[in-house]
Amino acid sequence: MHMRLRVLGAHNLSSSETKCVSLIIDDVLALDAGSLTEGLSFAEQSRLEAVFLSHRHYDHIRDIPALGLNLWRMATSADVFCSEEVRHTLITCLLNGEVYPRLHMIPDEKSTLRFTLIEPNASVTAGSHTITPILVSHVNHTMGFQVKDNNGRVLFYTSDTGPLPDDFWKNISPSLLVVEVTAPNHQTKFVRAAGHMTPLLLEKELVNFRSFHGDLPKILTVHMDPLLGSSSELEEELTGVAERQDASITMAREGMEVEV
Ligand SMILES: [Zn+2]
Ligand SMILES: [Zn+2]
Repeated sequence: MHMRLRVLGAHNLSSSETKCVSLIIDDVLALDAGSLTEGLSFAEQSRLEAVFLSHRHYDHIRDIPALGLNLWRMATSADVFCSEEVRHTLITCLLNGEVYPRLHMIPDEKSTLRFTLIEPNASVTAGSHTITPILVSHVNHTMGFQVKDNNGRVLFYTSDTGPLPDDFWKNISPSLLVVEVTAPNHQTKFVRAAGHMTPLLLEKELVNFRSFHGDLPKILTVHMDPLLGSSSELEEELTGVAERQDASITMAREGMEVEV
């Protein structure tokens, strides 16, 4: 059995053509909540068991209140795994009884959204997956996630990140790397200030990765910004990286499914 990845959102901006980042693994596990509700039917939402949130930015947490309300209506629930900072942001800014109900406190018997705090490098088991949060280079406490299934298949999602420490990849060796590449190379100044990647910055990571492991995993890019340069420009630059590094690099699209 393969691990199945479904990309609900592959971008950082929301429009009729683009959705914010959400990845679904084997129908039950969600990484980030940029498009969990608009990307899944009610039945599919009700099957979610655990949602892991990488950091507090809106494009990654926005569908938590909407998901919670839907689950509450359907008399079901889900576990939300995140840092204390993300939990605090959600319960004070969104699930505060003013913007939206306190879905982490209702109903009395079993809360609709149950928060579990995660720490860097401390693996968590959710169903048949083991998730290891790893600190990346973005705003405070942003964590990427390594997901391993019962058969030993491994995926790594970087979440939002700028250039990583040289030895970052030493102990990370997935079959599929889901990495953010936000904008083309001419946006490097903006991208670096905001803690993101361009194709050339990705290329440096791939060189570092190869120095530890010899070869490269399959690569899927997410978090593209549709208004910071054209997607054809980004695609052309990623094709250049793939050719130079002898790598398989695909830009993710909404609705794409990948077997790991
Ligand atoms: Zn971010
Ligand atoms: Zn983001």
